[in-house]
Amino acid sequence: MNGTTGFEQRRSGRVVVADIGGSFIRFGVSDAPGSVRQVDSVPTPIGSWEEFVEALKLLAGRHARESDWPMVISMAGAIEPVDGVICSSNIPSVTGRRLGPELTSHLGREVRIANDAACVALAEAVEGAGVGHDVVFCAVLGSGVGGGLVMDGRLAGGPSGISGEWGHGMPVSAYVDVDGDGSAQPIAPLRCGCGRMGCVDTIGGARGIERLNDLLHGEQKDSRVIIDEWQNGSRPARRTVTAYIALVSEPLAAVVNITGASVVPICGGLSNAAPLIDALDSAVRKRTLWKVRERLVVPGMLRRDGGLIGAAIIARHPQRTKI
Ligand SMILES: [Zn+2]
Repeated sequence: MNGTTGFEQRRSGRVVVADIGGSFIRFGVSDAPGSVRQVDSVPTPIGSWEEFVEALKLLAGRHARESDWPMVISMAGAIEPVDGVICSSNIPSVTGRRLGPELTSHLGREVRIANDAACVALAEAVEGAGVGHDVVFCAVLGSGVGGGLVMDGRLAGGPSGISGEWGHGMPVSAYVDVDGDGSAQPIAPLRCGCGRMGCVDTIGGARGIERLNDLLHGEQKDSRVIIDEWQNGSRPARRTVTAYIALVSEPLAAVVNITGASVVPICGGLSNAAPLIDALDSAVRKRTLWKVRERLVVPGMLRRDGGLIGAAIIARHPQRTKI
């Protein structure tokens, strides 16, 4: 299959999309631009490559009979720029595979793989909270941290397709004013799953806010409980959330300064906590180099469908990304 068939010609008609997470494969179809619907869902075979391929074959057989309907898959993982091999920490069955070409061969249709945070960012930029903005940085605050950068409607993919990744390689501050009285308290950098120390990912997601609470108060609580207690005026929860907002807003403001983003949609589980996003917006705007008078950090609009919508946009407009 060469670069002028399938994706390059696909502007109308049906495209097939999948959003693959560590628990479920959500399968969808789009029959027209701006419209995508989930039609099926099966558990993700995370331990077996053969079962992973069979699951996709089954879904394609049910909902995508025509082999000229291209498929774009949104999933967590980094694709090596040199050899195209994917590394996905939550779906080990695909790690080490040249996933796009191998699935293209097994399924008999063109299959393209896109990073899930990139799909969500593209969806928010084109159809969600970023509409009308030239530069959109979408931050995913789920169990961990991800992100994607969209400029002039195109995903800034970079060689590995994850150029909006701010969760790793950018350390958070080692000190934070948890009581709001000007006294900085040291926060020991936590080891990150990527092997580095103190990445934004260690404290920026739901697991991160739980780690911070444990670090400050020696209490292991669910992030939703911590946020509820913060809203109810609990002092320990207030200290935890104060630390969280301070630590996350600094690197997020740095991202805004570097990219010139005029809107930052927040997706992932923590985006459901509206007061937390409000507090983050206020803190980020205090730290940006230029005065941002309007709302900058906002809840994403597409919620759990961002992956499928972003994959459908890529299927119809492959020039929006190089992934
Ligand atoms: Zn890391």
